[in-house]
Amino acid sequence: MPSVALKLTQEQAQAQKPVLRVEDLHTYFEVRRMGFFKVGDVRALDGVSFELYPGETISIVGESGCGKSTLAKTILGIHQPTKGKIYFEDQDLSALNKEGWKQYRSNIGYIMQDPYGALPPFMSVKQILEEPMKINGIKDKKEHARRIRQVLEEVKLAPIEDFLPKFPHMLSGGQQQRLVIARAMILEPKMLIADEPVSMLDASVRIEILQLLQGLQRRHNLAIIYITHDLSTVRYFSERIFTMYGAKIIEKSSTKALLKEPLHPYTKALFEATSDPDAENLKTFKDVPVGEPPSLMNPPAGCRFHPRCKYMIKGLCDKEIPPEFQVYEDHSTACWLYKDKERA
Ligand code: SF4
Repeated sequence: MPSVALKLTQEQAQAQKPVLRVEDLHTYFEVRRMGFFKVGDVRALDGVSFELYPGETISIVGESGCGKSTLAKTILGIHQPTKGKIYFEDQDLSALNKEGWKQYRSNIGYIMQDPYGALPPFMSVKQILEEPMKINGIKDKKEHARRIRQVLEEVKLAPIEDFLPKFPHMLSGGQQQRLVIARAMILEPKMLIADEPVSMLDASVRIEILQLLQGLQRRHNLAIIYITHDLSTVRYFSERIFTMYGAKIIEKSSTKALLKEPLHPYTKALFEATSDPDAENLKTFKDVPVGEPPSLMNPPAGCRFHPRCKYMIKGLCDKEIPPEFQVYEDHSTACWLYKDKERA
């Protein structure tokens, strides 16, 4: 078993080389009429850039359809980027051959929202954990046994011998998600992408799963991308929080700075809408936006949030796309309100 390590501070994490670098990433999906005539593109991801460091968690928040899962799937290679670059430990993914992709994928664990749907129903726990090792050419049976024991201990599926012959339907929802995490860890990855990992679980199990992920991160110095619309968990789980809206990242901040003062009107609205579950207090919310998220086939000109924004500056917000303004050292936003507040 690896020794238990303390979690790195944000400064310590960022003093290392990034494990992942995403530069101006675009993912468009063609829309065709009758299967032939191209009528446009759905711009599911539209110019996203960031770096992720070993040992840190970035939470990506935003409403459904904002591009969070497309970002995850593009990083995983499930979707082809239309434009832009992804670097994993300085390696340009677009230059990888088949073997390089296999190697890259073995370094990323993926945890999906629906644990039952993610597990093959006719395979036992042992077979589910052995399969990624077989695919990646790990043939040594002793090594299989060592890794299986280690991951099952780490995700607390014990006694191990009781779980090995079980099938997914014989496990509870929480145990299924522990198994999904064990499978994500079996190849000893450097990075995890957790896409709404607790949203289908009972409230009582959610915190256990998040604590489990935190423990794994400390022990293995894992970098984690945590995708969620559940803002109640991000403050406990991440060093940085990014807000996505209309297929773009519109705010990037340390968790501390964002909780103190969200800058972008949309992030303010998101946090205000979830800060108090008391229905009475909903009446006092001032900034909850009206209207629908933008069409990603015909997005509005300028700032994509402008049709819903009560601070919209006519002639600017509805015409020019706001760039990223670095307002504080650890906090930037793409909003014209901060044009004159950028750090020197
Ligand atoms: Fe509102 Fe303009 Fe800022 Fe967009 S850029 S969020 S429309 S103030």
